[in-house]
Amino acid sequence: PSAMREVILEVPKVRWEDIGGQREVKMQLMEAVEWPQKHYDSFKRIGTHPPTGVLLFGPPGCSKTLLARAVASEAGLNFLAVKGPELFSKWVGESEKAVRSLFAKARANAPSIIFFDEIDGLAVIRGKESDGVSVSDRVMSQLLVELDGLHQRVNVTVIAATNRPDNIDPALLRPGRFDRLLYVGPPDEKDREDIFRVHLRKRPCSPDVCIKGLSVLTEGYTGADISRVCNEAATRAIEENFNASEITMEHLKAGIKRVKPSEMQSYEGLS
Ligand code: ATP
Repeated sequence: PSAMREVILEVPKVRWEDIGGQREVKMQLMEAVEWPQKHYDSFKRIGTHPPTGVLLFGPPGCSKTLLARAVASEAGLNFLAVKGPELFSKWVGESEKAVRSLFAKARANAPSIIFFDEIDGLAVIRGKESDGVSVSDRVMSQLLVELDGLHQRVNVTVIAATNRPDNIDPALLRPGRFDRLLYVGPPDEKDREDIFRVHLRKRPCSPDVCIKGLSVLTEGYTGADISRVCNEAATRAIEENFNASEITMEHLKAGIKRVKPSEMQSYEGLS
């Protein structure tokens, strides 16, 4: 039995413009992932080392996954995504094999990105096996071996995401591993306008829809919350009338009432 579901290889179709706000993170990702792959000779000539791995951290629903997919898409890189906890198998040896074959697949399909979602999930599972070495220790050491093997190799980049950076094994954060940390924070008022624009762009809206007004009404809402608000508004329009041809400000306000903002944890001192 395989330790993991088959890892899907894709070139995502997410553009930078599909993500509202996060200007700084977009720039940083371009610099850390796209430039070294596209301008390898320049980096070598000038003697600068691009990061081996990038860690995106911040509260849920604020576009970490979207950003990883966008940089792959914009740079034309193959993308392999895996969730931390998926790397575990109860079969002895299968978990390490899964990690090895994941990296082998990324190298075979270079230039590529491996995206580890919920990387903190690697540290929390602790089931001792008979020889006293836990599965998570085995997975972790295999992962470190693979990461160290990527060092100085520019055509495979690893990006990881977590909501809980304090739960990450510090060994992962040493130089030559996940050595670039980027904070992906909640949107401010201006960013929320951008996010509403992204989600309303492809939907028919009545002229009375005021993006600025929506942004003011959604203090504390994440990008994921705003996406839900827009969907609720569209649902509302249909509930009212099957022939509805547009979403009104009224529908959107009702959507905001229905969707409660996610609670934000504090990440102070970590960025
Ligand atoms: P998690 O930690 O829960 O995995 P995440 O930070 O990876 O969250 P995403 O999965 O990227 O968040 O975002 C979830 C959804 O929310 C996206 O598919 C998108 O619809 C919407 N969204 C979040 N942030 C933005 C944004 N800045 N612009 C547009 N849409 C956004």
